[in-house]
Amino acid sequence: MTMQPLTCEECGIGVLVEKFSPAHTSIQWESDTSWCPLMPEQLSLGDHRRECAALRSTIDRAVASLELSETRIELPVGPDLPRLH
Ligand SMILES: [Zn+2]
Repeated sequence: MTMQPLTCEECGIGVLVEKFSPAHTSIQWESDTSWCPLMPEQLSLGDHRRECAALRSTIDRAVASLELSETRIELPVGPDLPRLH
């Protein structure tokens, strides 16, 4: 687990972010504030994600500029994979 602090460049809310892959980002709000000022507008447009679009692009930019590195998950490979059932 490597949560990295990031601040939404639009609303200034601080979050902890862990990026596993381009499609999987874990976001943890630093305070009780789990509400971006931009979200009511987003909700009215039918976007029900918990983070605002600005935060999402802040994360994308941080990844692009290598400020935020992706966590590599070591997946077991080969014939020794444990069977689930
Ligand atoms: Zn925001």
